Formats: sequence, structure tokens, C-alpha cells
Amino acid sequence: MSTVLDSNLNLARRVVNFPAMTIDLAKLEHNTRAVVDLCARHGVRAAAVTKCYCGDPEIAAASVRGGAAWLADSRLENLKRLTALDIPKLLLRLPMVSQARNVVRYADLSLNSELATIRALSSAALEAGLVHGVILMVDLGDLREGISPSKVVSTVGEILALEGVALKGIGTNLTCFGGVLPGPENMAILEGVVNEVEAAWGISLEIVSGGNSSSVCMLERGALPERINQLRFGEAILFGTEFAYGERIEGTYSDVFQLHAEIIELQEKRSVPYGEIGLDAFGRKPVFVDRGIRRRAILGIGKQDVILDTLKPLDPGIIVLGGSSDHLIVDVQDCNRPLEVGAVLSFNMHYTAVLSAMTSEYVMKVKLK
Ligand SMILES: *Cc1c(COP(=O)(O)O)cnc(C)c1O
Repeated sequence: MSTVLDSNLNLARRVVNFPAMTIDLAKLEHNTRAVVDLCARHGVRAAAVTKCYCGDPEIAAASVRGGAAWLADSRLENLKRLTALDIPKLLLRLPMVSQARNVVRYADLSLNSELATIRALSSAALEAGLVHGVILMVDLGDLREGISPSKVVSTVGEILALEGVALKGIGTNLTCFGGVLPGPENMAILEGVVNEVEAAWGISLEIVSGGNSSSVCMLERGALPERINQLRFGEAILFGTEFAYGERIEGTYSDVFQLHAEIIELQEKRSVPYGEIGLDAFGRKPVFVDRGIRRRAILGIGKQDVILDTLKPLDPGIIVLGGSSDHLIVDVQDCNRPLEVGAVLSFNMHYTAVLSAMTSEYVMKVKLK
């Protein structure tokens, strides 16, 4: 596997503390451009969602170079870190009333569903001499944020009466809590609500925010209603996947983020524990496959560093057996390169792994430019 050796050589040339993760900024820029171009073919602009990597400004800059129209994050702390990047910022998680002042300061726009919060944003914006953009969220069955479609027209009336906030659009979020997929029915309801609001109040809405990475399939098929002109992408840009059906997006990389951990023990052991069996370190009764005596490596990384479940070894033949807070145990019996204590194994990372490793102060982050 030359990619493993290459990345290890790259790592060795820097001063790296393990565990480390690498972030390939050129690949991220490329992925962003691929998604932005796909959107552009269907009249949609893409918001690049930065929360998975904690709003790191150097990483976000790669998505700005790739053509994202907004940077979007759930957390104000992250949007604050992005201040120096000159591009509109969208707060994804419904704002907290207690944070209204910082919302209008660090976000140009926010997704909203509560009039009490929008009133707080209105006061905060007036106090700061700003106008804050509001996207009103409609729930279409996933049952996370959003008001019922039947309440949208009257709620819009109340927002229009407030100073300091400007109603920029209507949005929805799917496939997060309820696993509900975007489809012709719920997308038609969204379009209907938008038309109803515009007719009732004689306004035209600038943004119709149709969803997240689960909308890629409909986008590719040209099946999204024309009115939808914004999508908010985390996963699609970061990993080149859409999660509605788990398909790969053409022309994207899946290995922007990789994890590297060092072997601290390499021994032959049985594959099934012996002795009286109680619970593992996390209170679960572990289950084992008997593969006989096997060569196993312990790596100096564990659940305090990263959520281990989705790690994919780059070397063929390696099996991830499990881990505890500080250890990851892998079966390397069938690994076809020579290993030794002190060698480094590399893994491809998916969403929860990146999210947890970026949040952990124990994992060194190395940006490859
Ligand atoms: C996190 C988030 C997104 C991005 O989701 P992906 O599945 O990573 O594309 C979009 N919209 C909202 C409201 C979010 O909270």
C-alpha cells in the first residue's frame, strides 16, 4: 500500500506526536468544488458545514477556495473562529435566547423556529445596529427543528413586523432525527409553503434551504423543485458521500481525513479471552470470534481520542477488534507488510471519527497543504 507508506513518510518528515490525524486541504478544496459544481448545474448554492471539524479556519478556507457560498456551523464558538474569512456565516442550530447578542455578532443568518428567539435576535440586532437574517424552519416529518407547514404564513407575518431581523427564507432539515428521506412529496410541500408565503405577504424569498447531504441523490437526478436554491453540506463535501443511500459522489475523495496511531505492543495471542468473563471496560458483555492464535497489535489510541467504530485500516488484512479508553486492538496476522513496535498504522475516518478526534485535545492535527 504505497499510500500508507507515503503518508507515513510525510509524517516522519514533520515532528508528529501520535495519535495524529491528517487533513488534506487540497482534496477538501477539490471535493467542495465537485459539490459546488453539481449544485450549480441545478440552480443551487452550497453552504459548507464546518461543525465536524470544529470550525477550524484553515480547513474552512479550503472550502471557501472551492467555491462554497456560505460557511455554516451549529455552534457560535466555531463561527467566531471563522470571523476572518470574508464569506456569509449561517448558524445551523436554533439560537439560544441567552446567546442572542453573539448570534447577531458572529452569524449573518440563522435557522429559526421560535418567535421568542427571533424577538430576542431582533432586540440584539437593533442594539448592535445590525440586521440579522432569519431562515424560518419547517418540519416535514423528521421531527427535529421546525414549525408545522400550517403555521408558516401566520408566523411569517409576525417576523415581518419585527425590526432588526430580515426574513431571508424558508428551510427544512431531514434525515437527522427521524431518518426521513427527502422525496417528491415533502419537497412539494416545502415548495407549496414558499409559494403560499410569497402570495400571502407579497414578498419574494431570497433563500429556500432544502436540506443537507441526504439531498444529493435528488439533486443529481434533477428531482429537487426549482425553488430550492440552498443546500447545507457537511458529509458530502468532507467524505464525498451522501447518507440517504450511502452512495459515493462522482469525482470526490473519501480520504481527506486520516488517522495515524503507533503500535505499542505486537504479540501473538489467543483470539478468545480465557478466565471467568464479566463485563468489559464500558459495562458490556463482549463477544469474540475464535480465529485461533493470531498476531495482534495494540495501538496508543482509544475512545478518549476518537470514536473507534467507523475506522477503516488502510492496510488490507487488518481487522479492528475493539478498544477501550486508551487502547485500540487490531488483528494484524494477515497484514502483508512487516510491522514492528513503533510502526504507525493509518486509517480512513468517517463523520463521527473526525468529529470526535477534532474535539479531542489528545489527537495532533496535521494539515497537508
Ligand atoms: C449538521 C447540519 C447539516 C449538515 O449535515 P450533513 O449531513 O453533514 O450534510 C445541515 N443542516 C443542519 C441544520 C445541520 O445541523
